[in-house]
Amino acid sequence: MSLFVEVALPVPMRQNFSYLVPTTAPFPPQIGARVKVPFGRQQLIGLITNITDQCALPAAQIKAVSEFLDPEPVLSEPLYKLTQWAARYYFCSLGQMLNQSLPAALRKGADASRQSITQLRLTPAGTEADIGTLKRAPAQGKLLQELSRQPLTDEEFNALELSKSALKALCDKGWVEKHELVQQPDLSWRTQLEMDETPHKLNQEQAVAVTAINQQDGFCCSLLEGVTGSGKTEVYLAVLEHCLSQGKQALILVPEIGLTPQTINRFRRRFKVKVAVIHSGLTDNARLNAWRQARCGEAAIIIGTRSALFTPMAFPGIIILDEEHDASFKQQEGVGYHARDLAVMRGHLEQIPVILGSATPSLETLNNAINSRYHHFPLTKRAGAAQQVRQGLIDIRSQPLTAGLSQPLINEMRMHLNAGNQVLLFLNRRGFAPALICHECGYLHECDRCDAFFTLHQSLGEICCHHCGNQYPIPRQCHQCGSTMLAGQGIGTEQLAGTLQKLFPDYPVVRIDRDTTRLKGSLEEHLAAIQRGEYKILVGTQMLAKGHHFPDVTLVGLLDVDGALFSADFRAPERFGQLYTQVAGRAGRAAKPGTVLLQTSQGENPLLRDLMQRGYGEFARSQLLERQQALLPPAWHMVLVRAEAHQAEDADAFLRAMADILPKDAEFEVIGPMPAPLDRKAGKYRRQLLFQAKARHRLQIETERMLQQVNQLPSVKKCRWSLDRDPQDLL
Ligand code: ADP
Ligand code: ZN
Ligand code: ZN
Repeated sequence: MSLFVEVALPVPMRQNFSYLVPTTAPFPPQIGARVKVPFGRQQLIGLITNITDQCALPAAQIKAVSEFLDPEPVLSEPLYKLTQWAARYYFCSLGQMLNQSLPAALRKGADASRQSITQLRLTPAGTEADIGTLKRAPAQGKLLQELSRQPLTDEEFNALELSKSALKALCDKGWVEKHELVQQPDLSWRTQLEMDETPHKLNQEQAVAVTAINQQDGFCCSLLEGVTGSGKTEVYLAVLEHCLSQGKQALILVPEIGLTPQTINRFRRRFKVKVAVIHSGLTDNARLNAWRQARCGEAAIIIGTRSALFTPMAFPGIIILDEEHDASFKQQEGVGYHARDLAVMRGHLEQIPVILGSATPSLETLNNAINSRYHHFPLTKRAGAAQQVRQGLIDIRSQPLTAGLSQPLINEMRMHLNAGNQVLLFLNRRGFAPALICHECGYLHECDRCDAFFTLHQSLGEICCHHCGNQYPIPRQCHQCGSTMLAGQGIGTEQLAGTLQKLFPDYPVVRIDRDTTRLKGSLEEHLAAIQRGEYKILVGTQMLAKGHHFPDVTLVGLLDVDGALFSADFRAPERFGQLYTQVAGRAGRAAKPGTVLLQTSQGENPLLRDLMQRGYGEFARSQLLERQQALLPPAWHMVLVRAEAHQAEDADAFLRAMADILPKDAEFEVIGPMPAPLDRKAGKYRRQLLFQAKARHRLQIETERMLQQVNQLPSVKKCRWSLDRDPQDLL
């Protein structure tokens, strides 16, 4: 009798594929193990999803598995189920979802379980060799000497700074060889947890949260809502202590921008355990190593960004998501999964508690807390000595501005700087100016491939499109009238920093944005210099808004926030509330009182007033009511379909046909097709279709039904399209 396997492959088709198990297979197939199989003219690596003794395909068409890669499943059962659940929820193939959940090295066929390191060591001939013969090759001599003491890992070899050719020469002589050293995982932390620093005595609110969370058995989700500096991290640490001391591992997810050495060190300092750090900047190998350490239980703490969500744990104990509202938890390319939602699902499947922490919880999470689906632990006081911040609003309608700065803000800055403190200015626009204008004819220079203006980058001598990456040298003449009267329109961080340096020559200015932190390590360097007090004025975009702890910053100014407040996106007020609160949280974190000043031409805006007077918590609750009345998420459940084509009509026709398949009734709404907010990008026209349902289940069923028909539409061939469930921004 023949045996067959069904295999999930990283291809967009929403189906699995059948293959024959050859009698020569080295081990019996297992669900969740990887195989290599022929697919068209390629060989692909996929995961076994089913094992059967029958196959519907005609015998002539069925091909055999080419290679079995794992004697055991690479994904634990809960992780496999999570991936399956996510594939269905996000309407992608299981193979595509697996592509997200397995490290690249494993997708390329690397060994999943081996815990070995490569060592350099002497061969018997090398041990006998006479070092005196190497007098004229000192590098070789040194290496031979080192190796006669002990074998070296690659890292240790690199640290010696000897040339690779010296190593090669010794290998060629047959004196040195590479050797795989298999290691047993060190699990000693499970029986004997050592701590490196004594924790703070928790305040009442912290203690309540910690006690309740530590008593939880099995799955349970908690929202820890506390302003910046209220001691959330201290709560995580206390919960970790309990978890680790029971021999269980913890998975901590942080926003992309929050994974700083500061954050990691906070966990390293408290516990003497191995911490695996996982983020997208790792090499394939380093990532696989961290994955293996987590999987075998050697790494007690796993800390990482979005994709670390799928890291396996031998002894799963708890999942913590810090800054749970952060948009970087939603994947924007490929499968648009949300790490927060999947983390909650994973906690459920692993039967372990989940903590979501934030000063500014998303409306989704807040809604779940208010409906008692989550436990809710507020931390209302700033821990330690930090005091509440003073807030002010500067109406700039009647004010002359200097590079975007009003006189009251400049005066306030001077006071704080003269008192020896640091000042942080937030402007979410990098570059010198957001547009290049002709003073003769008023023409604004526009990207030829997008519906967007070029940003002027004076220091680079370029105009750049921030949407498609298009760039040109700054033109000498207007493209429309030929005039040379060209100038920047509006203010970007580059210009602001330059002006500030002239206004305050005695106080060094640092600019933190994507342009100044492009080089690896430069963000860390800037941050460290800020900590050392080398800079007094900090200018930055989003990058400066989150996570960092600046004890000497006492004044925070927000420059041009009107754009953030008035966007077509229904999430704009929520995002603005979060941003404002996070930026404001940078002020006065230590013993010094903080001030926040906000410049706006919308002084009477009720949203702004609401936010400043009542704080994010109340503001968010009234936003939530508005969403419910408007039948928007989280009340209803949304899918956004994006289509792009060289001809706008092609994208429109496709989306219209898709809309025709979908139901329209009191509990299912279809909006569009309509142009995307950025109508043309990189030469393509972009259209979108929104649909939403009152019930999540209905959305699932109707979308699946639509997807079965959509590939037969003739218009599908003329555009590229993608589907985004629970879209976080409508761009
Ligand atoms: P969050 O994560 O909410 O921003 P942290 O946990 O970083 O807050 O706490 C802010 C500061 O207050 C840190 O320096 C921390 O060491 C200190 N802190 C936290 N909890 C306590 C406490 N119970 N007693 C004294 N200091 C505390
Ligand atoms: Zn002109
Ligand atoms: Zn462009």
